[in-house]
Amino acid sequence: MGQARDTLTVVGGGLAGSECAWQLLRLGHAVTLREMKPVRRSPAHQTDRLAELVCSNSFRSDNPELAVGLLHEELRRAGSLILSAADAHRVPAGDALAVEREGFAAEVEGRLSAQRGFSRVDGEVEAVPEGLVVLATGPLTTEKLTTALAGRVGEKLYFYDAIAPIVSADSIDLSIAFRQSRYGKGGGDDYLNLPLNREEYLAFVKALREGEKVTPHAFEEPRYFDGCLPVEVMAERGDEVLSHGPMKPVGLKDPRTGQQPWAVVQLRMEDRAGTAWNLVGFQTRLTWPEQRRIFRTLPGLKDAEFLRMGQIHRNTFIDSPRLLAADLSLKVEPRLFFAGQITGVEGYVESTACGLLAALAVHARVTDQPFVPPPATTALGALYRHVTGEAHPDGHPHQPTNVTHGLFPPLDGRMKKSDKRAAHLARARAALPAWLSSLPLPVSAAAPQEP
Ligand SMILES: Cc1cc2nc3c(=O)[nH]c(=O)nc-3n(C[C@H](O)[C@H](O)[C@H](O)COP(=O)(O)OP(=O)(O)OC[C@H]3O[C@@H](n4cnc5c(N)ncnc54)[C@H](O)[C@@H]3O)c2cc1C
Repeated sequence: MGQARDTLTVVGGGLAGSECAWQLLRLGHAVTLREMKPVRRSPAHQTDRLAELVCSNSFRSDNPELAVGLLHEELRRAGSLILSAADAHRVPAGDALAVEREGFAAEVEGRLSAQRGFSRVDGEVEAVPEGLVVLATGPLTTEKLTTALAGRVGEKLYFYDAIAPIVSADSIDLSIAFRQSRYGKGGGDDYLNLPLNREEYLAFVKALREGEKVTPHAFEEPRYFDGCLPVEVMAERGDEVLSHGPMKPVGLKDPRTGQQPWAVVQLRMEDRAGTAWNLVGFQTRLTWPEQRRIFRTLPGLKDAEFLRMGQIHRNTFIDSPRLLAADLSLKVEPRLFFAGQITGVEGYVESTACGLLAALAVHARVTDQPFVPPPATTALGALYRHVTGEAHPDGHPHQPTNVTHGLFPPLDGRMKKSDKRAAHLARARAALPAWLSSLPLPVSAAAPQEP
């Protein structure tokens, strides 16, 4: 541990940076956290606290049979500061882990500040600091730092994320949806198609027009590319715009009628195992409840389970699978580590998990130990597989994602949905303890409760 007392720098005191700093402190390192608040705030941040929840106060489902709930469980067992503060400030929200945000953030800040070896330097970081650095500046990383990073990664890092919803395979009604590629291209059956007749199509267009939309932030003034228009904007441009665009039926024949439908919604596979399907061209600013309501009126999606909702917002992230080494450091400059949403994970819990993994990787580097990633079958491992690209062996472009079962290695054999969830959970719980006990961290030995 000779070098372990050197001060390490974490840039960004959001979910990932706070978690990363906490774990490094527990591992015996001195940490300087550089956070631009209170000197400057991003347009989405509204307080001067560390670990601010920029939007919802929910960490999503706490049910370990869902991938995000399993990630909660694993983070708790690894001694996560963010999960511990969330549990301490939990508010009733069904099976979701929702928190009283001010108490939560104050607790994170208080516990970090009380830790020996912690120091905080306020103000925007405009150039990459010296020494070993963890960059955890999130989706709204400031322009100067983004430019400094772009110089190193050789590309532009700003993106307007236009994300279409993803639904789970077993929630699609296959007595209505049919598998077929347009004109039988590719494998001939790469897509799932939801057929609509004229009345269904027009009712859907009307619902899109009337649905409640998210008001963009001032910094997100919508300037859409024509190839990437939100589905409701297309609906507003005319009755037939969608049926000549993403909902065009040409080259498709419903095998049950032998006819070309009036319009179709095409779904494309998100993962090789075919557990998750993306509604092609359905990027949207509809609110999440409206997306659920309106998209469930589509034929075949009455019982759709949404693994990710559609959204459009500014995002800053790097092409991690190409740029990062196995220990989450930049290949071209290995003293720089990345954590949180900037690596292309999406969400509070995922960003936290990434902060924890980056701390372990930095510790391994400083102490000259190999970094041992979490087992692939755990939720932490699945997220790591996404960041390193292992979950997407087909060269799928790196896109921000929440943790889902689609990122895990596939299970053997065919199973009912409920059995699959239980199998994922059992497999993860069997694999985690050995990894946890190999960590230099004090971790929870308590066996988790059955869901
Ligand atoms: C508008 C919007 C709404 C969102 N809503 C949700 C939601 O409801 N649920 C959800 O799970 N996820 C949501 N997200 C995604 C969310 O941002 C991430 O889940 C999470 O906050 C990312 O954690 P992070 O630590 O990577 O980044 P952040 O939590 O954003 O933390 C980054 C920190 O770095 C600081 N920083 C940035 N640049 C610099 C700099 N140059 N120098 C010093 N400090 C800097 C920032 O002030 C901030 O404190 C939303 C994102 C956006 C943009």
